[in-house]
Amino acid sequence: MQRIAIIGAGMAGLTVAHILKDVAEVVLFEKSRSVGGRMATRYADPFHFDHGAQFCTAKSSAFQQFLQPLLKQNAIARWDACFVELEYNKVKREYQWGADYPHYVGTPGMNAIGKYLAQGLTIYLNTHIKKIIDHHHKWQIVNDKNENLGAFEWVITTAPPAQSVVFFPEIFSHFNALNSNKMEGCFSLMLGFEKALPLQWDAALVRGADISWISVNSSKPGRKNDFTLIVNSSNAWAEKHINSDHEVVKSYLCDATSNIIGYDVTQANHIALHRWRYANIHDNPLTTESKPLMIDRQHKLAACGDWLDKGRIEAAFSAGYTLAHQIKSNIEIKP
Ligand SMILES: Cc1cc2nc3c(=O)[nH]c(=O)nc-3n(C[C@H](O)[C@H](O)[C@H](O)COP(=O)(O)OP(=O)(O)OC[C@H]3O[C@@H](n4cnc5c(N)ncnc54)[C@H](O)[C@@H]3O)c2cc1C
Repeated sequence: MQRIAIIGAGMAGLTVAHILKDVAEVVLFEKSRSVGGRMATRYADPFHFDHGAQFCTAKSSAFQQFLQPLLKQNAIARWDACFVELEYNKVKREYQWGADYPHYVGTPGMNAIGKYLAQGLTIYLNTHIKKIIDHHHKWQIVNDKNENLGAFEWVITTAPPAQSVVFFPEIFSHFNALNSNKMEGCFSLMLGFEKALPLQWDAALVRGADISWISVNSSKPGRKNDFTLIVNSSNAWAEKHINSDHEVVKSYLCDATSNIIGYDVTQANHIALHRWRYANIHDNPLTTESKPLMIDRQHKLAACGDWLDKGRIEAAFSAGYTLAHQIKSNIEIKP
């Protein structure tokens, strides 16, 4: 059996692994201490926060089918949020999410999706890949401690492009295209309160502000009762302040949130900040088509992730799904 190394255990990497595990020996390498990538949950008891992806939708039948077992096993549930669109602090539109267009969240946290998908897979956590070396027509994987982690026929990176180009072989025929994908940052502010704020909505898309999203994390199904808010900065604001002092960013985002929702959030019992250096691909509304797949059959190297399309969980799934099926047919033809 051929050996395939997958770098990154987010939605894209886990999807690729599930499709290829029947035809190859698949090993995932993940630099974090847990799986799921940007589908992440932060614990600060008694408060829990989904400080990365907030929810996912499933437009394609392939993704709807993929999610069925997770729904059955309660790893995900529908979040019927009262959703508003705000123009700064004014409600412009309000509607209830429901069964007609389901919005799913991991339960009891977004990280439950990665944990569910990781079952039965071989995954090395806390493993930061630094080099991939050509060795007798195989690829040798090397971590940041200079340890050799084995030889593989295929290597597929699902790390964000800026992180992939650090370790991926330049001989990869899509190297320049990979390198040209620029992602934008985002700050996530986590606020925990002993006493709930009387907000009239569960989730708000915010326009005309340096904040793009505010949600009542504790309104999602399967969460603890303690009242929590998640605030995301806009990508544009984050890009300008990506290296700013975290206390300054925290204080700015707290003030901006207070002005929008009309409550002083500096009174929260818990305030924390997370910086996502590579949060989303810049979404060009004029581009409707996803980018071509990056498979180099000659060198048996490939790259994929949400950045091939819209910077969403479903895009990460679709990229991994399509790429893995193409590689699978290649392996099946030439074992
Ligand atoms: C704040 C925020 C809010 C979001 N909200 C939503 C939302 O509401 N709905 C939605 O659909 N999407 C949302 N997204 C986007 C969504 O999270 C992503 O589209 C999706 O999770 C990307 O999956 P992926 O597998 O492509 O990448 P990732 O999840 O980033 O996985 C890549 C993995 O590679 C690992 N890695 C990187 N470098 C190395 C290395 N050298 N060695 C080993 N491992 C490495 C990383 O640790 C990571 O786990 C949000 C993202 C952020 C940051």
